[in-house]
Amino acid sequence: MKEKIKVGGVETFSTVDFPNQMAAVVFMQGCPWRCPFCHNQALQKIGGETDFIWEKFAEFLQSRKGILDAVVFSGGEPLVQDCLLDYIKEVKAMGYKVGMHTGGYRPEHFEKVLPELVWVGFDIKAPLNAEHYTRAVGGINQFDKAMQSLDMLIKSGKAFECRTTCDPRVLSVEDIYKIADELKAKGVKEYYLQRYRQVEGDTTPDSECDKFFEDKELLSYLKSNFETFDIRK
Ligand code: SF4
Repeated sequence: MKEKIKVGGVETFSTVDFPNQMAAVVFMQGCPWRCPFCHNQALQKIGGETDFIWEKFAEFLQSRKGILDAVVFSGGEPLVQDCLLDYIKEVKAMGYKVGMHTGGYRPEHFEKVLPELVWVGFDIKAPLNAEHYTRAVGGINQFDKAMQSLDMLIKSGKAFECRTTCDPRVLSVEDIYKIADELKAKGVKEYYLQRYRQVEGDTTPDSECDKFFEDKELLSYLKSNFETFDIRK
């Protein structure tokens, strides 16, 4: 009998979590990081309250064959759970494509699941240096591990995108230029900027959160440096 996967919730239909696919999204519990811009804080802890039952979700997936294309394992951080591969395989066996959203904190686990994935959304939290990256994820230094996963992903030849949440408390416009240059040098082709939505209690003005998206020079630089670049507001 396989270990029980810990899931905080599910989105049964999404067109935005796996490019060009109609997908169901599983939000897994557990994340070792504490990004100040996190909107999934309830998922950071494993064992939080949830009424999710995998068997019911599996029945739902059986009934949606031919309607949905894919299942995305999101979080939290899916790589936290050791049993992830078993559930990816179960979903694959039903005929679904499998995608994953990750920050790549655990490369030795990523290496095991990567061959089963069709697409990965890889979070880039800050310019690629340990000091800034550690600050951006709430003081936890797993920068080298995240970079090992990113390099593994690039080398794998799998379809993937990199994306950055533009929290002005963590990143400046200049930082986005740095990230872009560093990703391009690694061979990343698809990059997205996501608008930061103020978390509860944060009084950062909208104008600060919007500045990345109103900077025409930055946007044009990103467009010219990636095969695909877009913003998600
Ligand atoms: S990695 Fe994602 S789930 Fe984890 S703290 Fe950061 S934003 Fe939240």
